[in-house]
Amino acid sequence: MKVLILGGTTEASALARALAEREIPALFSYAGRVTAPKPQPLPTRVGGFGGVDGLAAFLAAERITHLVDATHPFAERMSRHAVAAAERLGIALLALTRPPWAPQHGDGGKPGDCGQQGDRWQRVDSIGAAVSALSGPPQRVLLAIGRMHLAAFAARPEHHYVLRLVDLPVDPPPLPRHTLTVDRGPFTLEGDLALLREHGVERLVCKNAGGAGAAAKLEAARALGLPVVMIDRPALPPRLETHAIDDVLEWLGHMTDRGV
Ligand code: NAP
Repeated sequence: MKVLILGGTTEASALARALAEREIPALFSYAGRVTAPKPQPLPTRVGGFGGVDGLAAFLAAERITHLVDATHPFAERMSRHAVAAAERLGIALLALTRPPWAPQHGDGGKPGDCGQQGDRWQRVDSIGAAVSALSGPPQRVLLAIGRMHLAAFAARPEHHYVLRLVDLPVDPPPLPRHTLTVDRGPFTLEGDLALLREHGVERLVCKNAGGAGAAAKLEAARALGLPVVMIDRPALPPRLETHAIDDVLEWLGHMTDRGV
């Protein structure tokens, strides 16, 4: 048995620890997007594979028997490639993901009818739809979507964007009015309340990443009654998927009584 973990998430790192602890032969893969990726307790490679063909060649060369796609729910291309390459080689594939966030409703509120303390989400299905949702007068917008798709928001130059990125970008963000903060999660409610207040944020745009590390901004938005444009996850081809590391270990046939 030899496992390849496609990483870049907290879940991937937790799985790497669990496999290393059990001495299950495994490799870890990063895309190489951030300057100082978290060191892993497994042999680690960095960088794209070169499409489906490149990934399939890597899987064959390394004699990988089990592929775990633990990439971010918005890493759509990598996840599609994983499905295609695993199918081509007949390798077992399991996706380790986090459950998406769901809007909370205010006291006395009914589903779809958010009360005063409930979430004020506008759900959209793409970055383009999020840009369209920002019609209306100029606002101060927390754009919490990472750095890859910032350019799309140049179509709405009237807004002042507050950006929070993991690394200082090499090129300045292509948005005429913006404030940049560099920080890496996990974030806290206190910290995110302070961020929203300090920058006078009136609306948030974010991806439905799920998980605890980035949820504080949603709690903070709820507390301040701010509207959120929530980008839904991309649809992926059918695949085996779990949210639990125990399930991955069971799938690998390595559940032990040592716990995770
Ligand atoms: P993506 O659009 O799905 O992937 C683009 C290309 O990057 C892939 O085709 C692949 O290149 C390479 N790649 C992606 N993940 C890889 C991995 N774990 N190992 C090796 N190559 C990888 O992905 P993305 O949205 O740019 O995300 C890149 C990485 O950042 C992912 O590992 C993801 O877990 C992490 N991340 C993404 C987000 C997000 O919002 N998208 C947020 C937090 C973390 P080739 O085609 O050349 O193989």
